Amino acid sequence: MNAKRLYINTIGCQMNVYDANLIAGVLVPLGYSGTDSVDSADLAVVNTCTIREKAEQKAFSFLGRLAKIKEANPALIVAVGGCVAQQEGQAILRRMPHVDLVFGTQAIFRLPEMVRRIEATRCRIVDVRMTETLDADRPVSGPLTDGQVAAFVTVMRGCDNFCTYCVVPHVRGREASRHPDRILDEIGSLVSKGVREVTLLGQNVNSYGNKEGLCSFAQLLERINAIDGLNRIRFTTSHPKDLSEELIHCFGRLPKLCRHIHLPVQSGDDTILHRMNRNYTTDGYLDKIKRLRASCPDIAVTSDFIVGFPGESDRQFQRTLDLIETVRYDGLFAFMYSDRPNAPAAALSGKIDEAVKKERLQMLLNLQEAITREKHAAMVGQIYRVLVEGPSRNGQPLDDGETSPERRWSGRTSSNHIVHFSTPQTTSAEKEVLTGEFADIMIEGAFAHSLWGRVVDGSVGSTPEKGDASIAA
Ligand code: SAM
Ligand code: SF4
Repeated sequence: MNAKRLYINTIGCQMNVYDANLIAGVLVPLGYSGTDSVDSADLAVVNTCTIREKAEQKAFSFLGRLAKIKEANPALIVAVGGCVAQQEGQAILRRMPHVDLVFGTQAIFRLPEMVRRIEATRCRIVDVRMTETLDADRPVSGPLTDGQVAAFVTVMRGCDNFCTYCVVPHVRGREASRHPDRILDEIGSLVSKGVREVTLLGQNVNSYGNKEGLCSFAQLLERINAIDGLNRIRFTTSHPKDLSEELIHCFGRLPKLCRHIHLPVQSGDDTILHRMNRNYTTDGYLDKIKRLRASCPDIAVTSDFIVGFPGESDRQFQRTLDLIETVRYDGLFAFMYSDRPNAPAAALSGKIDEAVKKERLQMLLNLQEAITREKHAAMVGQIYRVLVEGPSRNGQPLDDGETSPERRWSGRTSSNHIVHFSTPQTTSAEKEVLTGEFADIMIEGAFAHSLWGRVVDGSVGSTPEKGDASIAA
């Protein structure tokens, strides 16, 4: 079989990163292996996101670039997958004559057959079929990158929550959970290939298994916690309305569960939350944060926010800022509201000016940056255990020979803080040794988005204990 090159451009969330790996995995039997150069690709896949208007524009602008590349290389197959593909379907083929294939969020396992047909007949195909249940719960391990330490594992698909601003239930379909045995098989296989940390993915992991009568999410975590060779477990995302006591207690109880929760609140105003159909109040949310901190005192909490939801007044926005001050998040993602097709909020009156949204976003980010800086500064002088993920990308160049006096590495704390650190005279042979190891790092520098430190002598290879907790210096 001829070797063929596959280029994937992934836009959007971790689900899309996971899907990209699946896409690469299902195409291996057809002879495709990954390339970083779109100009030399035989098949280019644009794995799209439609959560906000900007993400969709990004996908169409890249597709415009592909039209030019295809002019120079007419044999190139151009495929559009992911949420924009699901949303737009046939319209993409009409609008873009250079696109050969549009495949929806539930069509990945049908991809090999479609690509084969296009290779043989140069036909154009659209497949955006959706199913109520998980039709393809087959574990496919996509290729891992060399020395990959952390991986995503999808535990459920879709969403039934219908937040009024959100397109996810419309493009990812109804919620469906994978069987725990399949999830355990997949994690076992990743661990056998050197993975030490998994992040379990779902739009609302708290409702895992409910529909199918499988185990609870907390019970699933307990089973994963027992997998030999796996050191760390993370998950995202938790919907505050469904965060159970059982799950809250896992943070104090399960040694491998990292001390971090991403708990998106979206707004600090109860009327806005109601109009978003979030089904909790700020008091209820704050109570859950209190209970999480009681169960695990040093748990890191992060969140998502939307600014400029239709009708949001200055006072309502101020309540969001007040909530941020109260919780003092370890980090957050904030977005300007944008209308999405099929999302009911698009029909609401009281749309907020773009300039006002921008101003609110900036105020919110400034506030959080000040909090993050204070929190990071308080970490200086403390020792944290990190799982080393590999050479640091934002340090000095790494291709400067083996005689460099210092090598820079990066790793994550249990609380999901990124730490860059240096080691003297690390050779490429030592690279393999460090990646995937635990090391204790003395924090010496704090920045807005990362931390800098130095490895504590003799700590490389330290055993991961109880969520590899920080150690007081
Ligand atoms: N399922 C997760 C939850 O409910 O928290 C998050 C899903 S979504 C992929 C990630 C984030 O995008 C949301 O938490 C929200 O802050 C943001 N988002 C979703 N729809 C949006 C819209 N129409 N405009 C702006 N931000 C949006
Ligand atoms: Fe979208 Fe709400 Fe579902 Fe999250 S919970 S994916 S925001 S509908």
